[in-house]
Amino acid sequence: MSKFLKECYSTLDAYVPGEQPKDGEYIKLNTNESPFPPSSGVINAVNSQEVKKLRLYSDPTGAALKQKIAALYGVKENNVYLANGSDDILNFSFMAFSGDKGSAVYPQISYGFYKVFAALYGISAEEIPLKDDFSIDYRDYLNKNKFIVIANPNAPTGLCLPLSEIEEIIKSNSENVVVIDEAYVDFGGESAIPLTKKYDNLLVCQTFSKSRSMAGARLGFAIGNEALIADLELIKYSTNPYNINRLTLIAGAAAIDDDEYYRNNCKEIIKNREYTVNALKKLGFRVIDSRANFIFAESDRIDGETLYKRLKEERILVRHFSTEKIVNFNRITIGTMEQMQQFIKTVEKILEEVK
Ligand code: PMP
Repeated sequence: MSKFLKECYSTLDAYVPGEQPKDGEYIKLNTNESPFPPSSGVINAVNSQEVKKLRLYSDPTGAALKQKIAALYGVKENNVYLANGSDDILNFSFMAFSGDKGSAVYPQISYGFYKVFAALYGISAEEIPLKDDFSIDYRDYLNKNKFIVIANPNAPTGLCLPLSEIEEIIKSNSENVVVIDEAYVDFGGESAIPLTKKYDNLLVCQTFSKSRSMAGARLGFAIGNEALIADLELIKYSTNPYNINRLTLIAGAAAIDDDEYYRNNCKEIIKNREYTVNALKKLGFRVIDSRANFIFAESDRIDGETLYKRLKEERILVRHFSTEKIVNFNRITIGTMEQMQQFIKTVEKILEEVK
């Protein structure tokens, strides 16, 4: 740290991304990426002609992509905001919507970045514990009178709240923004996007990083009331108007055109998830009921960290968190059937060793 850094940043506990190993091949089940490549439409769209155009700035309005997203989700273009990954939307939301005194409410066990954004902006955060079964009790979020963020499905549990409960939260906090982070909604969740027509305090954010196989392209979007979207645009034009590069804009539009390909991939992931859950349960694991492209599992036959380390030695990466309440768990991204069969075979082998 240099002597020039502002004091308020000197104690920041930054987000720690999952490992992106450089030492050869792994079965990579640690950062919830898609095991499938982008669609052929995306691969063809990002061609040398488009690369040549990189000398020009990208379209700051993202109009062509906004149009496609709006048509797919049945909203208007001015209900859509485009971002450099949905992390940027969360960042701007904590910056802009946490109230003049700065307060936020989110589940104690959830996406680790919420805590980081709260710290970044000096926001006082109320972290609400999950129930013993790791579910969210929606009643804990009623009438909070504060900015609220909920991942639905939640991470790293994969559990969902029904839309009726989400709606109660939105309704009872009408003077504050409620962000529903739907990074994993395409794997079996129910989107709150239709509710954005009814409630002006709801912002739904989604990403192309998971179901649309574009984590490396960095593309996220938010859907909400046009005034909320205008607020996000105001922050964007006050920081980085060209926040999405040309190639990503083109790739995103081609991905929306190939929606069916991605919907089929999601079906495949759901099938592979069912296989993995059943196989782990047969091995005695407790597996939380996931609607995401990952599962969260623990065993009393081996502690979470040991399993994570042994799997890594076998060149399979999963995500282990050292947070107290979940220290015995691992979060396992769902890959191809072949990868999941290899994963199960390896877990069986490791369990044999510790018998
Ligand atoms: N929300 C949740 C719950 C996530 O797990 C992630 C991915 N780490 C994100 C948002 C951010 O995704 P991205 O910035 O790649 O769109």
